[in-house]
Amino acid sequence: MMHQSENWRKVDRDHHLGAQVDYREIYEQGGSRIISTAEGCYVSDEFGNRFLDGMAGLWCVNIGYGREQMAEAAAQQVRDLSFYHSFFKTAPLPTVKLAQRLARLLGGDLQHVFFANSGSEANDSFFRMARRYWVAKGQPEKRHFIALDNAYHGSTVASASLGGIKKMHEGGLPIEGCHHIKRPYLFAATKNDRRTPDLYGYKMAQKLQLEIDRLGAENVAGFIAEPIQGAGGVNIPPKSWWMEIEKICRRNDILLAVDEVICGFGRLGRWFGFQYFGIEPDFVTMAKGLSSGYVPIAALGVHRKVVDALRDIGGVFPHGFTYSGHPLSCAMALTNIEIIEKERLVERVAKNQHFFSDQLSRLNDHPLVGEVRSLGFLGAVELVSNAETNGKFPAHELVGQVCCENIRDEGAWVRPLGQDILAVCPPLIISDDQIRALVSKMERGLDRFLAHVGNG
Ligand code: PMP
Repeated sequence: MMHQSENWRKVDRDHHLGAQVDYREIYEQGGSRIISTAEGCYVSDEFGNRFLDGMAGLWCVNIGYGREQMAEAAAQQVRDLSFYHSFFKTAPLPTVKLAQRLARLLGGDLQHVFFANSGSEANDSFFRMARRYWVAKGQPEKRHFIALDNAYHGSTVASASLGGIKKMHEGGLPIEGCHHIKRPYLFAATKNDRRTPDLYGYKMAQKLQLEIDRLGAENVAGFIAEPIQGAGGVNIPPKSWWMEIEKICRRNDILLAVDEVICGFGRLGRWFGFQYFGIEPDFVTMAKGLSSGYVPIAALGVHRKVVDALRDIGGVFPHGFTYSGHPLSCAMALTNIEIIEKERLVERVAKNQHFFSDQLSRLNDHPLVGEVRSLGFLGAVELVSNAETNGKFPAHELVGQVCCENIRDEGAWVRPLGQDILAVCPPLIISDDQIRALVSKMERGLDRFLAHVGNG
């Protein structure tokens, strides 16, 4: 067993290029950790080491791993219709059913859905459809987009350009027409701002108005942001920020897109994050929790006014993928939504989020922790070198990464963001005992780090 696992790791080193990894580092370390099985909230590697998954895979396995109902739905769909496309005025049956299901969940004027395969593609689709909308409206010069610094919207050329993480811009990005403003980030705000978060949210939202003024509203197509920035640090904006952003978009006639790739499908105790923040976007991008990661699928919810404009102008919109609305993916997403509903997982998160945040808050007493924050089942721990002053560790020490490795040695996965933030985003089915265990493992992992630093 051991011998065979070592072989697979070597095969990985010699033949597989992983996602967003340092190719030299992974080569020197001898290859990736090979993950072989998973069930419920646990993931196991080839050596039989079992980890409590505090990251729901990559923010996506909302219903937990290995559900029998999902396996059955997949087998049945392969028998019924293994593939058909949505080109040339055809559509697979599960695709149409899922569009209807999502329209009901989105509500209001978000009654149409375009399908893609990844969050990146969904955001690219927003980019292209928004530009077409303004062409249809006779305002083709409205082609600029505004997003937030540190936002993550994907890894394709347009979505990485919309994203505001600097290191994602290597190699000539962002493409022309993508601009970024400062995000609201309460942890790094002044003491005064921290005391008045609503006012801070309002003030930070004015940065959008300033950028629109700089570009000219007549040149701006849309604004996009995550309800809560995920990869950018699990930054929870004050509600006032979102309310004001919506007002500014309306006032300047700019399309508002919400990237629900992480926050959608129950993560924040509502079906979608925009529902929590009480806004009405024109576009909603979703992926991850849409199928709980069982198969690749993404979607773009589209406001009626956009659909109307595209219908009015007519002509083929030259955009779409071979696997847009793949019947297997759609059947899996439908079953996933059925499970979320039957097990009342959205309501469960709304109810248990206080327990989740109370448990995470145990870490507040730790000398390494500057702040713990969470909403729904999405949380972050800010690591600091000095809890009195919230002093930062030097970036090159990669403290977040080292702490995650320590926590992994205690038997749990969490994820470093930037240099010194730990993200926590468990499957929505996680039990109270498992939440307690997860936080204890995190605590012990942080203790290990302190012991190590203490020993020089
Ligand atoms: N948007 C957000 C908010 C994300 O977190 C991600 C992925 N982490 C994406 C878009 C891109 O999704 P994908 O990796 O499926 O392309």
